[in-house]
Amino acid sequence: MKSREQREQDKRRWQAKSEDMYDELYEWRQQHPEASFDEIANQVTPRRQELMGKLLAELACQHGQGEEVEGLACEECGQPLVYKGKPQRGVEHLEGETKLRRAYYHCPHCKGGIFPLDRRLKLVKHSWSPETIAQAVQLGIQIPSYPRAATSFERLTRMAISKSSLQKLVCEYGERLVDIQAQEADAMLTVPADVEEGEAWRAIPEPDSEEMAVAMDGGMVNIRGEGWKEVKIVAVSAGGKRGGGG
Ligand SMILES: [Zn+2]
Repeated sequence: MKSREQREQDKRRWQAKSEDMYDELYEWRQQHPEASFDEIANQVTPRRQELMGKLLAELACQHGQGEEVEGLACEECGQPLVYKGKPQRGVEHLEGETKLRRAYYHCPHCKGGIFPLDRRLKLVKHSWSPETIAQAVQLGIQIPSYPRAATSFERLTRMAISKSSLQKLVCEYGERLVDIQAQEADAMLTVPADVEEGEAWRAIPEPDSEEMAVAMDGGMVNIRGEGWKEVKIVAVSAGGKRGGGG
């Protein structure tokens, strides 16, 4: 935990940065009286990302930079890990780009090591946060062109991603995401084993005839207190041999 004094100092630094941002934007607006709303917002976004990136860095390290009091042991060989200082890493998120300094513990035998803070924050080896990766992969799967998906991602998030990076992420995470989606789709169609009493599951109907007819119509109904609402009625019927409805 930070000392009260440290906290106040950080808060004042934060307020000073916010004020700088306000002044800069105010000045810009003074010089651009004809700017559209989007043009104004485009001035705000990068500054907001910079400011929020700094806030994220502070909040991420509020409980320390991963310095462990107790001696850590290597998960591979059980030997004690050696503290090796605090290397810096980047984290990219829609809110802003952040730089984090965090403790690194190295195993001289296995040559590997761990960053306890990365683990606590559930960060992965990529510079993007896990949620950011999930959003990028989702677009990469939905849009059948990596350059177009990368452009869409940049437009939506204001974060740069190259088409080759996106392609790598989709290859690495896409299969897992498709598996999860398939499981979700299956779960919607499967009747669970422990159906609660009174809960009725809809059976999947078999068509009564090779030719089925669907008719749909709607009308307006005045509901007291809510006004006019549209009601839709759908009728599904089996086609008879003589062309009549069934
Ligand atoms: Zn080891």
